[in-house]
Amino acid sequence: MVSKINEGMNDWFGWFPASTFEDNTCIFVPSMANTCAFDTKEGLVIFDVPIRQFAQKTFDEVRSYSNKPVKYIIYSHGHFDHAFGYGPFIEEIRKKGWDMPEVIAHENCIRRFEKYEILGKYHDWINKQQFASVSGRGRSSVVSAHETLKPTIILRGNESSYSFKLGGVNFELYHDKGETEDSIWLWVPEKKTICTGDLIVSSFPNIGNPFKVQRYPKDWAIAMERMRDKNAEYLVPGHGRLIESKEKVKDVLSITAEVMHFVHDEVVKRLNEGKWFEQIYYEMLEIYPEKFKKHKILRGIYGCYRFAIHATYRLYHGWYDSGNPTDLFPSRTDDIAREILNLNSGSVYLEHANKLYSEGKLQLALHILDIVIKGSYDKNAKVLADALKLKLKILREKVKVESSFIAINILEKGARQIKTKLKELQKIKEKD
Ligand SMILES: [Zn+2]
Repeated sequence: MVSKINEGMNDWFGWFPASTFEDNTCIFVPSMANTCAFDTKEGLVIFDVPIRQFAQKTFDEVRSYSNKPVKYIIYSHGHFDHAFGYGPFIEEIRKKGWDMPEVIAHENCIRRFEKYEILGKYHDWINKQQFASVSGRGRSSVVSAHETLKPTIILRGNESSYSFKLGGVNFELYHDKGETEDSIWLWVPEKKTICTGDLIVSSFPNIGNPFKVQRYPKDWAIAMERMRDKNAEYLVPGHGRLIESKEKVKDVLSITAEVMHFVHDEVVKRLNEGKWFEQIYYEMLEIYPEKFKKHKILRGIYGCYRFAIHATYRLYHGWYDSGNPTDLFPSRTDDIAREILNLNSGSVYLEHANKLYSEGKLQLALHILDIVIKGSYDKNAKVLADALKLKLKILREKVKVESSFIAINILEKGARQIKTKLKELQKIKEKD
């Protein structure tokens, strides 16, 4: 297990109690992602259902506040933690003979579910990496993508919106791209409440997730501004605690809009200057303003600014990102490493990696170690084992200082793989 899950990630995972607001008419239930149930005279409107494993917990929490039938279920988007834990609600409807609820989603959500059908195993594999520290080994997968509740009301197109009234309360739904292409957010004027889905997640926006498809910084900023115009008093984020008071809601939406404009516009400016990714990336790190670094909602505890630079670059750029023709059809990295090792023995590189490590240049040390690790013919060589041990040590040190949960999991997953490899080497050694 990763030892470091900071306070912010406790909130992100919803490890805090359910609550109500607006005279108990809005029920806020955290279960990794948040569910918000609106209790009207004619029944419940539910914005987002949780991850399947927490479906019963969320159902029980909602039912501890209200016993009215569920009339609408809205998917903020079709990710596994927002659209799959509907089971107990539907079971109850069948048992009691109530009418089935309307299920509202954007048309791109239906495309997403179709994508899950063909890429189910791949997404399991991704999630086991992205959530390596909490998914454990051999546990059941978090998504059964083919078991989705089909939407009955579908928002179509780029500028779509939809509204309905239940029990005298108006519900206004809007589509904006951001984290996904199927995002829907909700404005309930009578309750002065906005439900954002994952457009706000109590961390720097999850915009450049290393495993995931393209995301949209400019559209994200525009969504924030449209939400801000509603002047809401409550903001239900996709993950994390309820945000209360007009000032705080406005501040969170404004700063998120601002940072998304910033990362978008600064990357675009550099693309127009004919710069390649590496230069853009390092320049962007230099110019990141203090006001964003310091703002609580932009802490890079899940997504982070570094990932956002990648996302923006990828939005407009192809995969040839170095400007060096050597990289167009490159050789295998193992072959390159072997050639470099032919020039000098592995122990020389290992010694140099140790020196870099002692100088605190951990990332450079990793690159040098990879020459030894990738290029070693002799799998029994002591130098290979020592290189792996140093790499393991460096990865674990990086985990300790890394803020982003996603980055931590990638580093930790790599460390575990090295541990396995070291055990295999030990076994081979014992056999010989
Ligand atoms: Zn989510």
